Amino acid sequence: MSDAASQSTPLYVTGLSREAMTQLVLSWGEKPYRAQQLWSWLYVRLANSFEAMSDLPKGFRQRLQETLPPWLPTIREYHRSADGTEKWLLQLEDGQVVETVHIPDEERGTLCISTQAGCALACSFCHTGRQGFARNLTCHEIVGQVVLARSAVEAAGRKVTNVVMMGMGEPLYNCEAVFAAGRILMDANGLAFGSRKLTLSTAGVIPRLPEVARELGCNLAISLHSVRDEVRNVLVPLNRKYGIAGLRKAALAYPLKANRRIFWEYVLLKGVNDSARDARELIGFLHGIPSKVNLIPFNPWPGSDYQQPEMETALHFQEILRQAGQVAILRDSRGGDIAAACGQLRGALLGAKQRRDFNLQEGFQDIVQETVQVE
Ligand code: SAH
Repeated sequence: MSDAASQSTPLYVTGLSREAMTQLVLSWGEKPYRAQQLWSWLYVRLANSFEAMSDLPKGFRQRLQETLPPWLPTIREYHRSADGTEKWLLQLEDGQVVETVHIPDEERGTLCISTQAGCALACSFCHTGRQGFARNLTCHEIVGQVVLARSAVEAAGRKVTNVVMMGMGEPLYNCEAVFAAGRILMDANGLAFGSRKLTLSTAGVIPRLPEVARELGCNLAISLHSVRDEVRNVLVPLNRKYGIAGLRKAALAYPLKANRRIFWEYVLLKGVNDSARDARELIGFLHGIPSKVNLIPFNPWPGSDYQQPEMETALHFQEILRQAGQVAILRDSRGGDIAAACGQLRGALLGAKQRRDFNLQEGFQDIVQETVQVE
């Protein structure tokens, strides 16, 4: 009950934990199995209205309709790339916009979802980082991205098999909503993403790492990009707070389940972090940590200061890691023709003025101070 009670009004149906939904249904004098029915309509059959839930009694449907607002975000823009990558720019009720991306592969489909509108971390290679922080997403806004995109993908005869919290925002600065949403995504009688099918990606908010294991037990990805403090301090300003040594210590202490690895994201930036020396230092950093390295060639965006390395350089970097026994995947760049760089669609939408407003927004400076301890 506490979940339902602590939700700020209005209640959103996709913001309710299974227990809170049961409590709500019981408080209306309905049988508890109605909650399971409602849950399956939302998360198995991906219904988009209470009206469509045809085996629920009319009176119950009506009450749901009158009490709970619509739960899906509005599609502001939709783009489909020649390679099949799809991107939704979704508008939330207060006008904020976030991006959700679907990346189809031969036998899988990965959905990349956002956890905040904007981001306070200001990583120098990231387009979202340039836009400042607007606000945290709520649980229902995080779940809503998955329900909306999965429903569209399935209607087109394809599947969403994996979800990565790797879109806009830092999930570990929005733990409460992210963990609540994660539990809904992982519920076995609903969306049913297993613990290997959900990945939370963080820039490395060290004190919160153990909570990922405890609250979700899903895959953990850490955005590394360099193992040299002077380089990572620039790429990921949050590094000034915890440092490479602190990150390595936290990774070594992370309670990994058996046969699991920490995923390391490493965006390859020409002349910045892509040398043979960088690769060798990375091997040193990873020593003793069960790891999988995802090498991602930089995705350029208008006005970015970085370049993508030559394919040969990227392959050489990967080969050095492999020779040392590391699992290293070189990602191909997808969706380039539809502004695939994270945050690019949203950035195009925001005028320079609005961007300034974000920066002036009350609390923004505090968040930056708190998160990156600038100087
Ligand atoms: N704050 C979290 C989640 C944001 S997603 C985190 O830092 O992990 C961050 C990931 O987006 C990075 O690891 C990187 O893989 C990717 N990314 C962001 N901008 C990119 C760009 N321009 N080119 C390639 N990858 C990028």
